[in-house]
Amino acid sequence: MAEGARRPLIMGNWKMNLGPADAAALAGALLDSLPAASAADVAVAPPFISIGPVGRRLAGSEAIILGAQNMHWEERGACTGEIAPPMLVEAGVRMVILGHSERRTLFGENDDMVGRKVAAACRHGLVPVLCVGELESERDAGSTLEVVGRQVRAGLQAGAPPSCDGLVLAYEPVWAIGTGRTPTLPEIQDVHSFIRNEVRNIAGKEIAAKVRILYGGSMNPGNSVEILALPDVDGGLVGGAALGSASFLAIVAAAAD
Ligand code: PEP
Repeated sequence: MAEGARRPLIMGNWKMNLGPADAAALAGALLDSLPAASAADVAVAPPFISIGPVGRRLAGSEAIILGAQNMHWEERGACTGEIAPPMLVEAGVRMVILGHSERRTLFGENDDMVGRKVAAACRHGLVPVLCVGELESERDAGSTLEVVGRQVRAGLQAGAPPSCDGLVLAYEPVWAIGTGRTPTLPEIQDVHSFIRNEVRNIAGKEIAAKVRILYGGSMNPGNSVEILALPDVDGGLVGGAALGSASFLAIVAAAAD
């Protein structure tokens, strides 16, 4: 579990699921069931079109942070299909997932683009959730730390910390996302501790001690207790198990324990 001042964060990544009505209904169900004062931060990242309705459902409550799954780095312009940082801010979004492996592998996002996005989020007062993680072939080749280190350095290249308040990273082994497989507990702890060390090298020890590093990849109510108990795991980025209120709330409860 997160030590010292690091408050755990559980973030639901709803991916391309839940249109406006269903997303608002899930947000409402979560809001109704969350304890008034939780020891963990909770965030949800609906699809863009559902952000407005979810934001309206959450309005007036501090219990759930509104997130987004992606954004462009420019403020405006001829970028058909993209969403700019000020648009997210205007919609009440406070956190944004950047560099998710599905963006990298399915939509061609590279380290340079992810770095620009992280810097843009920081400039606009959005908390970036910078995702990093190795492919299965990279783990098999023994290059996990090399890949993750490169992604962390590139993601923070454009000067995210120390100007970026609340910076969050998420370690998501690509082969663990949506597969039901997870690394062993020591493997997770090793990578998280390595990431914190990389942040220390880039931004200094105070920021490294504060930065929250989430684990993502097939987290569920059954495995969350042990994963969240690891010293450098400060929460979870949850996909499949975030689509049901009971499973998501069970993970939140594990984090708040
Ligand atoms: C994710 O896509 O961020 C994720 C962790 O998905 P899942 O929990 O379904 O593996």
